[in-house]
Amino acid sequence: MALYGPPSGRTHCADGRTLLPSAGHKGPLHSGSQTPIAQWVLRRRALWREPWELEAWVLVRVYDWTAGQRALNKRPAPIEREEVHEEAREAITQQWAEDLASATFGRQTLDAIGPIPKDWLDRRHGCLSLRLVQVLSGYGCLGSYLHWIGREETPQCHHCEAAVDTAKHTLEVCPSWDAPRRTLMSAGGDDLLLPSVIANMLGSAEAWEGVDSFCEIVMSLKEAAECMREDDPLAAPFR
Ligand SMILES: [Zn+2]
Repeated sequence: MALYGPPSGRTHCADGRTLLPSAGHKGPLHSGSQTPIAQWVLRRRALWREPWELEAWVLVRVYDWTAGQRALNKRPAPIEREEVHEEAREAITQQWAEDLASATFGRQTLDAIGPIPKDWLDRRHGCLSLRLVQVLSGYGCLGSYLHWIGREETPQCHHCEAAVDTAKHTLEVCPSWDAPRRTLMSAGGDDLLLPSVIANMLGSAEAWEGVDSFCEIVMSLKEAAECMREDDPLAAPFR
């Protein structure tokens, strides 16, 4: 039984749809029924979208300003309120970006989106699927991760001769994924370095879907192969 969540498990969409528990979810984040990657996604979501407390801070700032204006017997125009709202949002986005810069968990992805957090926040397209998150984060059915959590004896790639299988190896060079990689690159994603990939994803819905499709195809095949290794009666006993 693989550990990496349901097939095509959507977690969060830019249009507001959420399929994992929402920010207001009262349940435990570390339930035994949640896979490690699902727990990781839940923790990361607090950084990948503006925390609701920060949104609330913006509304409080606008409310205070409006109350101050009324105390002066002024009736601010809607456009003035909108300007105050934008200023407050930019201030809190800056603070959010500074918080991201000092975070230590999920560093690979944070480094990639770090220079463009406002674009990430303001995007109007792009769902985060579990398999997309696995590749962006490196936390998934990858040799290095499986080795790190003690499920594999070595970090090797099971799909080529590479001694270490990482998200970077899977995305950029593993020859087993040449076909889906060609499809990805033919859609304009010819630079496969993670910061470039994320910049492309933010650039268009088509580019986002292209990367998402690559991750779905490749990670589902890697998970299927891992299931076969798990079912192998000759597998290492610590698996
Ligand atoms: Zn490989």
